[in-house]
Amino acid sequence: MGVFIEITIDQQGAAPELRDAIVRVCPVDIFAVEAATLVTREEQEDECTLCALCLRLAPPGMIRIRKTYCDETLVSTGEHP
Ligand code: SF4
Repeated sequence: MGVFIEITIDQQGAAPELRDAIVRVCPVDIFAVEAATLVTREEQEDECTLCALCLRLAPPGMIRIRKTYCDETLVSTGEHP
């Protein structure tokens, strides 16, 4: 968890190809795959630019990005699988 950004991941439905695609799409390298699980590099979370690329790729509800400074949460939509 970062100071300004907290990212949570629901692992359900995270097929290997999808996990890899999410790792690749993030421009600031927030995601990684460890032991076949999609994780965040917590020390990197505050670098999130809120570009929403991961949110468009991940199925609805799988990734949640909370802005701790205003308690707003962005949720993945899967609109560009
Ligand atoms: S919104 Fe953009 S910068 Fe933030 S985690 Fe997703 S892909 Fe990375």
